[in-house]
Amino acid sequence: MIVFVPRETAASENRVAIAPDGAKALVKLGLDVRIEPGAGVAAGFDDAAYVAAGAKLEPGALAAADLVLKVQAPSDSEIARLKSGAALVALMRPLDDPQRAAALAKRGVTTFALELIPRITRAQSMDVLSSQATIAGYRAVLLAALRMPKLFPMMVTAAGTITSARVFVIGAGVAGLQAIATAKRLGGVVEAYDTRAAAAEQIESLGARFVKLELDAGDAQDAGGYAKAQSEEFYAKQRALMAATAAKSDVVITTALVPGQRAPLLIDEAGVRGMKRGAVVVDLAAANGGNVALTNPGGERDVDGVLLLGPLNLPAEVPGDASRLFSRNVVTLVTHLVKDAKLALDLADEITRGTLLTHAGEITQALVKERAGA
Ligand code: NAD
Repeated sequence: MIVFVPRETAASENRVAIAPDGAKALVKLGLDVRIEPGAGVAAGFDDAAYVAAGAKLEPGALAAADLVLKVQAPSDSEIARLKSGAALVALMRPLDDPQRAAALAKRGVTTFALELIPRITRAQSMDVLSSQATIAGYRAVLLAALRMPKLFPMMVTAAGTITSARVFVIGAGVAGLQAIATAKRLGGVVEAYDTRAAAAEQIESLGARFVKLELDAGDAQDAGGYAKAQSEEFYAKQRALMAATAAKSDVVITTALVPGQRAPLLIDEAGVRGMKRGAVVVDLAAANGGNVALTNPGGERDVDGVLLLGPLNLPAEVPGDASRLFSRNVVTLVTHLVKDAKLALDLADEITRGTLLTHAGEITQALVKERAGA
């Protein structure tokens, strides 16, 4: 079975789906691993490292591949080159881009969408959303640290005392918890809020203060561990209550997401204007519509001296370690899908069925199919 790892073609995507040690693990499974020359260069992996791992360098293996491993979803021209019956593993943004799934189904490709990996213990080591969110949370704090007019740690010097930066993290999932840990390590005083009750203990275990709001989020967590959507009335109250904490913060990092929906708007324009001059907001939900009004997705904006950053792909800015983790996740998934060096799909298996996006000419996820109008 020919496995192909192409060079990513999306703008600013510096990651690669498989690192050299991942290639070695795939070769060990008996797979014929081919890498597009230069595929790992932006992540710091030379072609020679892949060859040493037992992979072959081949520029044009896309059309011959039985299994294609990518970071980002394939472009239209890449889809046109995939052979019918091939399998693909990539981030697919299935609910945002259902037409891409429709195109892959039409092409006869079996697609596994990495976002759909079930949140069960058995699949934790395949969970790309978690591994990449960890990196995004870390990087968000560093971005803020570099752009704010103040230091993070408290410092007592002969020239006077510097106070610690105050950091407010909204949404304490994987990215938020890593942002809290990073901000603490830099010496910040950290507060955080999440609608899921389970998050309070995790926030406190990292040494941050859980911000208690006079709000009833009800049963805020679904069976998969994700947040449930709240009413518009709830969000309006939340915005009003959180504005007071945002107003005294030097850094606000927002990470709140509800699967399949636009990110909830948690800081409105008045909230931004109520913040201190020099404060920095990093809106990690920018790719999903943003948690902060006025965020410029993919860019920045200055609102009365408050800097709003809306990065779209922070893991790609730490491409070496991001690719190492991504690669380990993908290799674990492929190992799960392969038997005797061939794809052996057990559609009764929760991980295989849950992750499958297209198969046998069909979109296999009901909601995606509905959105594709198929
Ligand atoms: P996510 O990226 O979908 O959302 C980020 C955070 O935003 C979540 O914690 C969510 O509760 C929070 N949020 C949503 N609406 C909010 C609001 N109005 N105000 C404040 N916060 C809000 O979620 P995630 O980070 O990927 O993970 C969420 C949970 O799932 C975590 O507890 C994580 O530990 C768990 N998880 C489990 C597994 C597994 O078992 N395999 C894998 C990954 C994550």
